Amino acid sequence: MKHYDLCIAGACASGLAAALSAAKNHPGIGIAVLEKLPRTGKKILVTGNGRCNLTNVNAVPGSYNNPAFAAPCLEKYSPEKVTGFFGSLGLLTYTDSAGRVYPRSNTASSVLDSLRFAAEKYGIDIFTETPVTSAVKKDGEFIINNEFSCDKFIIATGGKASSPQGSDGSGYPLAKSFGHIITPLFPSLVPVNTKPDEVRGLKGVRAANVRLTFSAEDINASSEGELLFTENGISGICAMELASFAAKAVAKKIPAYIKVDFLPEMAEESLEKYLSDTARSKCGEPIDSFLTGILPKPLGIAVLKKAQVYLGGSQVEEISTGMAKAIAKEIKEFTLTVTGTKGFENAQVTKGGVDTSDINPETMESLLVPGLYFCGEIIDIDGLCGGFNLQWAFASGLLAGELG
Ligand SMILES: Cc1cc2nc3c(=O)[nH]c(=O)nc-3n(C[C@H](O)[C@H](O)[C@H](O)COP(=O)(O)OP(=O)(O)OC[C@H]3O[C@@H](n4cnc5c(N)ncnc54)[C@H](O)[C@@H]3O)c2cc1C
Repeated sequence: MKHYDLCIAGACASGLAAALSAAKNHPGIGIAVLEKLPRTGKKILVTGNGRCNLTNVNAVPGSYNNPAFAAPCLEKYSPEKVTGFFGSLGLLTYTDSAGRVYPRSNTASSVLDSLRFAAEKYGIDIFTETPVTSAVKKDGEFIINNEFSCDKFIIATGGKASSPQGSDGSGYPLAKSFGHIITPLFPSLVPVNTKPDEVRGLKGVRAANVRLTFSAEDINASSEGELLFTENGISGICAMELASFAAKAVAKKIPAYIKVDFLPEMAEESLEKYLSDTARSKCGEPIDSFLTGILPKPLGIAVLKKAQVYLGGSQVEEISTGMAKAIAKEIKEFTLTVTGTKGFENAQVTKGGVDTSDINPETMESLLVPGLYFCGEIIDIDGLCGGFNLQWAFASGLLAGELG
């Protein structure tokens, strides 16, 4: 049996950050990172469309589902500190207008390389193709896979989103075996499925600056941004931010809807008047182009159809005040019936995970098993799209690695 001071399960964002933090804070200790895939950091490489949006300068506790738990970690390892940590590894970064931080090279492999090479320099042993399948604590030591023993053990195996990148949920049984509770798991940051006939003909159509309102019994949420229609639903960051609510409602079998306001900046009454005035000025034009000054044409046609405005060869002068009212309502409240999401396979993040009430937020140490730590997405913490989830992974990894 190989003995280490510290073993870490999972060699991606949080696990590698934890390993480097432990090496820096406890010089000379023996560290092993056990990774199930043939290579480390596979998920880092696909983040930010291959550019790795590694943090967001606007990340604060309120950017996450459990601000009180996330706060001590984010205070200690703020976005600035995380960027500074990468700076200390020789990685230059830049920040875009939305506060998203990327490597200056615009290449995710630069982020992974900075972690990998530092791990090598510190003499951290990385075992790939080594899935952790069992871990027990016996006589003050953790025994892992009956192959490794260690004094401290960090579980950094991620959630169950995007399993081709390694995170297949196999960390949850490990956490459970130590008595930890796993809260219900839902895919988050993933496209939402709606009734196909409601989006027919709209695949690929984009609408900028929309407001989405999700409602399902007592669950209400909203988001804003650019919407993208897919073959059987909606995507774009604003839609993906509502996905976990959609998944929850569908799991509970309660009806769920997303209302799209395509013109949030204009009140419905003003829009009605605008449409009536426009009908006069566009007199004689084909009706299917009536909304092209406001919406992409296929979307305009979909709105007119939903408003039950006759399209077959008719012209604009046929729009009555009642029709203008119905069109304005559809522009402000284009309602889609939620049927589900594109699932964990297509999700960026897992909502739910190891219950935070059994983890010390100041250290990430288990309150049930001394010497056991968690970091990253396996914990029931998830954030918005735009660098917030990697911020959590890196910050909680750096904190867990202090072994406090
Ligand atoms: C397509 C995509 C794009 C994304 N883009 C961004 C972005 O730009 N910005 C952002 O902030 N977030 C982004 N995210 C989310 C972000 O990548 C994750 O939240 C983050 O990687 C979580 O880090 P982690 O270390 O907790 O888990 P992971 O990065 O999932 O790493 C877990 C590691 O553990 C290994 N593992 C799992 N089980 C075991 C086991 N039993 N034994 C040993 N090893 C195991 C896995 O192979 C993996 O290497 C994106 C996610 C996806 C899927």
